[in-house]
Amino acid sequence: MTVRTRIAPSPTGDPHVGTAYIALFNYAFAKQHGGQFVLRIEDTDQKRSTAESEQAILDALRWAGLEWDEGPDVGGGLGPYRQSERREHYEAHCQSLVDAGHAFHCFCTSEELDAMRAEQMAAKQTPRYDGRCAHLAASEVSTRLAEGREHVVRMRVPEEGDCVVHDRLRGDIQIPWAQVDMQVLMKADGLPTYHLANVVDDHLMGITHVIRGEEWIPSAPKHQLLYHYFGWEMPELCHLPLLRNPDQSKLSKRKNPTSILFYRDQGFLPEALLNYLGRMGWSMPDEREQFSLKEMIEAFNIDRVSLGGPIFDLEKLTWLNGQWLKNTLTDEEYRSRLMEWMCSEAFFESALPHLKSRIDVFSEASQWLNPLWLKDVPVSEEALDQLGLEKEVLANTLQYLIWRFESISTWSRELIEAEIRWVADSLGLKLKDVMPVVFIVLSGTRQAISAFDLAVLLGPDRTRARVRAGLEAAGGVSKKGLKRLEKSYQEALQSIDTVKDAN
Ligand code: GLU
Repeated sequence: MTVRTRIAPSPTGDPHVGTAYIALFNYAFAKQHGGQFVLRIEDTDQKRSTAESEQAILDALRWAGLEWDEGPDVGGGLGPYRQSERREHYEAHCQSLVDAGHAFHCFCTSEELDAMRAEQMAAKQTPRYDGRCAHLAASEVSTRLAEGREHVVRMRVPEEGDCVVHDRLRGDIQIPWAQVDMQVLMKADGLPTYHLANVVDDHLMGITHVIRGEEWIPSAPKHQLLYHYFGWEMPELCHLPLLRNPDQSKLSKRKNPTSILFYRDQGFLPEALLNYLGRMGWSMPDEREQFSLKEMIEAFNIDRVSLGGPIFDLEKLTWLNGQWLKNTLTDEEYRSRLMEWMCSEAFFESALPHLKSRIDVFSEASQWLNPLWLKDVPVSEEALDQLGLEKEVLANTLQYLIWRFESISTWSRELIEAEIRWVADSLGLKLKDVMPVVFIVLSGTRQAISAFDLAVLLGPDRTRARVRAGLEAAGGVSKKGLKRLEKSYQEALQSIDTVKDAN
């Protein structure tokens, strides 16, 4: 058997370090067995998927050094590798489940489903589909379909007993069928859900081992049942522990920068990032902290992954990156990697317009570029005082900015500007009060390119990290204050049309 693994990201945002972590373990496992590593784009959620996000994921994984053998951009014999181009596979397989009686048409409206949910919640039951369309007479189904009634297709699920799913790291996991919902397989828009598409594709693409995050364990019974309905052998499952913030909560952009692009733009080496991710739940047999991807593949043993939630700690990663810079790169490599980071074509393409209008001699350049090159920009108390805002107002403004910047889906100048305006409006401030706040926390100086341009060039994670650091420098918001602020923020969200709604 040739081992085939895959990473199957959904292109709905910035490329997440969690994706690189799962990709790394899939990659190491496949390569160690002389197998193949596939990249499949799971873009069945048409509302949230974007071409930019897909491109960013490909760029980020490639930057990290994880090359795939088959994928949407490199092709392969079992493509296409983008789910939006595989509709006919899902339609045919879904129909075969309906024909065999393993799935049924469901005509319930969203109002009916909401009411069902509300009743179940009131009765303290786990909300789930109650099966009201599961036993409609065939003639009734045909009539409704002929009438063109909107519908979805759901899978049947056993009513009693337990499902036992085997996980390579966790052994048998027992889940009562009563907790497993009659999952929608095909949505009203004719597109499959994750569950159907994922199972069909893993099978058709010959995936032998599904190595993914533990958040997918609850989906495993549905997948196992689908494999059974189709009469297919299921790949071996291996759910890896989720990355955590130092406070043990799930790694999220609220507490840690999570975009792979943040690490690239801050000047981390991809080797060091992969090395660090390789230490998440796994270690070298000799416990050595620094190792290359090649060394990891040679020594890799997935059965040695430990299940305690690995902590993703920026300081530790920074230290490890330092080890790589100090001990591993030759002078020649050091020079070229530094140049590549500081003066890449992409960097200058975006920074040049801001320089051109401002400088007369090159020696003036670094003053403008510094805020982009610096790891962080300490903001002095004095600089914050000079903003002329009350301490509390300043902290609230920064906290609002963090929340709004966390919710921006596309990091564009237009949306950033709209969010800053929204913050000013909702706090009863003027744009000219808030702009200097943004300017000072992003640049750390008095003279820099505009705050909007800085935010665009820094990207979402670096911008957020600076606003968070600014909030800390401003004294932060107390726990109690935060609760109050969150409430008024939610109210403001409801009362003023948010940018998203307006678009
Ligand atoms: N598209 C899923 C994700 O975004 C893939 C999950 C899986 O690996 O099955 O993570």
